[in-house]
Order: sequence, then structure tokens, then C-alpha cells
Amino acid sequence: MSDRDPGGQARPAGFGVFRTPEDPRVRRVGWRTTGGVIDLGALAAARAPSLASYLGVGRLDPLLAAGRPVWDQVLDAVLTWEDDADRVPLERVDPVLGFTVADYVDFYASEHHAARVSGLFRPGAPPLPEAWKHLPIGYHGRAGSIVVSDTPVVRPRGQRRDPEGEIGVGPTRRLDLEAEVGFVVGVPSPPGHAVPMAALPDHVFGVCLVNDWSARDIQAWEYVPLGPFLGKSFATSVSPWIVPLALLDAARVAPPPRDPRPHSYLDDTGDEQQWGLDLRMEVRLNGQVISRPPAATLYWTAAQQLAHLTVNGAALRAGDLYASGTVSGPDESERGCLLELTDNGARPIELADGTTRGFLEDGDEVVIGATAPAPGGGLLDLGEVRGRVTPSPG
Ligand code: MN
Repeated sequence: MSDRDPGGQARPAGFGVFRTPEDPRVRRVGWRTTGGVIDLGALAAARAPSLASYLGVGRLDPLLAAGRPVWDQVLDAVLTWEDDADRVPLERVDPVLGFTVADYVDFYASEHHAARVSGLFRPGAPPLPEAWKHLPIGYHGRAGSIVVSDTPVVRPRGQRRDPEGEIGVGPTRRLDLEAEVGFVVGVPSPPGHAVPMAALPDHVFGVCLVNDWSARDIQAWEYVPLGPFLGKSFATSVSPWIVPLALLDAARVAPPPRDPRPHSYLDDTGDEQQWGLDLRMEVRLNGQVISRPPAATLYWTAAQQLAHLTVNGAALRAGDLYASGTVSGPDESERGCLLELTDNGARPIELADGTTRGFLEDGDEVVIGATAPAPGGGLLDLGEVRGRVTPSPG
């Protein structure tokens, strides 16, 4: 139960991989549901041997690559098994990263975030870069530093310029979180082929929550002109349970109006149903809610991001992960990172224990959760991505 789920009624859902204390070396594909996690490998062997090759291998990779007909078949089976299947209680569930991350792309799809960051990093400059409303701006991140929720995050070191102008090397002094939505690609696409927006459900397996940790001092010094590099590549945390796209139908909403109208491969204005997603996110710092970012306010949708990411003919691979970029709404209480919440540290937030934070301190724990309208009513619980900051070893 939490602020984003006041009645404690939200139904958890999602595919992931976990271990148990009894067999710590065995990885099991699981389904997160009310009351715990269902061991899908064991169930498939007993009830649906034809699905065992997707569910009995201890990783989600074969399921991701299998494509939508199999995804639908597996989801149907799982939702039926939910009625009577045994649950592994959560205290015995140790989630691991469920799939092999191929490439990682991070977008910058929140207008509220982009405009505020511009004001902080480039005071006096126009609020949005020239291309921002013509294409979803993004960069290629580091797939190898994607970690599952609960993995400690070591404070990164690097080169930074102090406010006094001195250039030094050391642990970041401006460690930040970024609350984002992640999209996990299953079905690949061939090189030279642009994937249209309408093909999103054929390629994207599901959604997770992302904390794209950022070292703002390293980032601010290094990012011109090629964009984020070491300020972002030390760790990106993801929630363990990937919510199938099919369960998010009730969460689909119209995105904000776009002006100017985007180029045809990005133009969703005539679409019967667009891919805005009403995910109600919540960021907690040391147990205290510090923000409630609304994903429905994102300017660019997952479908537009997919179309843009492949418009040059770049191939998709099974296990590609792309993230929305920091989700920030218009209100002060909806900012998805400390950079915005504290005006780059100038206005620290106060915590319940009387301490203040401009940026994250060693020992701080960040938890990002989300709920969304569920099929048939009620709320879906997308789980959470959790991470604690540990000191730099240097
Ligand atoms: Mn990011």
C-alpha cells in the first residue's frame, strides 16, 4: 500500500526472473501477482508443455523473441493459472535481471523536464532545442550498466568543474535520480527497415520502471557537444517485473497536443488510439514521497520513439531497452529528478528526519513505483525500482 494506491487494491502483474534461498543457483521465470510470484517454469512443465521452451529456461530471452502470438498465448495461460497456482511468498523471491539487455536508448520526452533543465543548464537560452518538437531527442546509453532493482549503486567518480570554476576529479557531488518509463523490445527488425508506429505491439513486449541515475556535475562538464557520457553510464536500474503491453490497454490516453504537427512517420493525430500511457508514478526518498510524476504528460509516446529510433534503418534486437527520459509534470510536486525538484541544489528539499537534500547522499534509498488503470477496472501495480547509494571506493 502506498500513496499511489491508497486502498492497497492495485493488482501487481509482470514477467520476471527470480531465485529463492532454497536454490540460489536456479533462475526461474516468474509471474508477479497478488500474493507473491508464480513459478512459471514448473507450471508450464505440468500444464502446458508447449510453452515450456519459453518459460522453463530461467531467462525471458526466448519469450521476448517469440513474438506477439506467443506473448498472447502465454499471457492467457498465466491469467488462467493465477486462479489456483501456488505463490512463492515475496520474502523468498530474489529478483534478477530477467533478460539480456541488447542496446539501451534514453529519450528526453517530457517537455516540462526539458524546458526546466534548459533553464538550469543553459540560462537565457531558448527553453527547448530547435529540433525538440520535431523529433524525440535521445541518445544511446550503456546496456552493460543496466541493473535490476535493489542493486547497490556506487557513487560514480569523474571529472567535473566546481561552481568556482576549478576542474577536479573525484566522487560526484551531484548524484541524482531520474524517474522514467522503460520499454522492452522483443521482436527484432532487419537493418534498413523503419518500424512504423502501428507496429509497436508487434515489437515491444512490455513496460518496466527505470531509475536513470545521473551525476549532474560530471554531465554538465562533459556533455557539449556529444551529449551524456560518463555522467549516465555507471548504473541504470530497472524494475524486475515487466508488465505486458496487452495489460496496459486501459492505461492508453491521448498525449498532449503537438504543435507543430510532426512529420508523417511521427504523426499520430489521426490514430484511433494513441500511445500516451496514464502511469501514475511515485518517487520516494528514504521512504518519503518527494514527487508524483504523471507519465500521461509525456510529449512523445513509446510508438513515436520506436518509429524515430528506427527511421534511419537501425535494426532492433531482442532485449533492446528504450526509456522515456525523466518524467516531469507541470506542477512542482511532479518533477521526476532532484535537479528540477531542488533547482540544481539551490533549494534543497526537507526530509522527515529534519535533514535536507540538494542531491543524493551515501546511504540514501530511492524507490520509484507506479500504478495504472487496469483492464476491467481498478488499478494495476507496475511494481517498483529500488536502489541505495553506496560510497565511492576512491
Ligand atoms: Mn535519463
